[in-house]
Parts: sequence; structure tokens; C-alpha cells
Amino acid sequence: MGGHLLIQVVIFVLNVDYDDATGGSVTKSREVPGPPDPIGLAVDLVNSWDVMAHPPELLRDLTALRRLLAGSGHDDLGGRARQGDLGPVREVRAGIREVFEAPGEREAVRGLNDMVAGLRAVPRLLRRDRTWVLDHVPTGRPDLAGAVAARAATGLLELIRDGGWDRIGLCAAAPCCCVYVDRSKNRSRRYCCQLCADRMAHAAYRRRRVGSGR
Ligand SMILES: [Zn+2]
Repeated sequence: MGGHLLIQVVIFVLNVDYDDATGGSVTKSREVPGPPDPIGLAVDLVNSWDVMAHPPELLRDLTALRRLLAGSGHDDLGGRARQGDLGPVREVRAGIREVFEAPGEREAVRGLNDMVAGLRAVPRLLRRDRTWVLDHVPTGRPDLAGAVAARAATGLLELIRDGGWDRIGLCAAAPCCCVYVDRSKNRSRRYCCQLCADRMAHAAYRRRRVGSGR
């Protein structure tokens, strides 16, 4: 409680704009279900290995997998999920992380194009909540991990097509390795979540105190 209060004071002193620093997000994943968000799925999937958590593996069981899928509006996939899907989905996670860590836009696009080609993903319109959603069905890989990979990869390709490569980022609060997509208007996001923003603000405050000899 005392630590929490101290952080609140630090926030006030530094006048940190948290909405900018975290892109308006206070958590690493969306809590409220909504329409399918393939980009959110890609982010949540990568962040399901979180070195700041103990243990880092957050995709530890079937319940966690279903919760992750539902969190970005992919309940239809969650309903299909079985215990045996955990391992393959974790492998897909590693491939999607490589995209976030790619040195540039071209490399990221090449990786995503290769992934979609390998899945032989075919576009198909699905009826969801009185609206049409363009899905990409992995005809070359019928398992759940294939569907997760197809949605996450095509979501990221669409983001890049729309000029969003520079919205993809790695959390600046080392040693955190989580990723984010910056949805803030002025593209000022630097951290994956509020917790990391708080941690860095606290560290900066301590450095200032040491520097000023107080
Ligand atoms: Zn972080």
C-alpha cells in the first residue's frame, strides 16, 4: 500500500502522461470482449510469455488459452481449443514475436507473407454479430494453431499495409520484453502496460533524487 502511494506521488511530481506512454491501455490485454481484433490477438499471444511474470509462461493451460482468445474477441477459436493445441500455439507465438522484433518493415512483411503462404490461408467472409468479418482460413493447416497464426499474421499485414509499421513496438521498460501496438494519436507510446510505465517513472524519480543529493 505504501509503495502504491509512493508511485502515485511520483506520477504527480513527474506529471507523466500515462495515456500517451501506454497508448491509453492500462493492461497488457483487453478485458472486455468485443469484435474480433486480430492485431490484439497477435499482441496478447506474444505477451503470453512475459519475463516480468513468475513463471514467464502465462499460456500455461487450456483455460489460459481460451481466455487469451476471448480477450481479443476470438471466442469461436476458444470454443475449439483443446489441451493438445497449447504446444502448437506456443510455437506460433515464437513466429509472431519474430515479426515484432524484425529489423524493419520489409523483413516483417516477408516473414508474415511466408507465414500466410505456408498456411495457404484463404479469405472468407464470416457472419459475426450482424456484420461481415473477413477471416483467413488456413486450408493448409486445419488445427487451432493454424487459425490463430492466420488471423494474427493477416491482422499484422493489414496494419502494415495501412502505414502502421511504426506503431509496432517493444516495451522500453527493460527487462520487460512485451510488445504493443501504439494506438495513440500522436504515436508516443513506449510501454506495454501501465505497470511498466509506473516502474520506469519510479526509477526515473529515484535517479533524480540521487542526482540532486536528496
Ligand atoms: Zn513492459
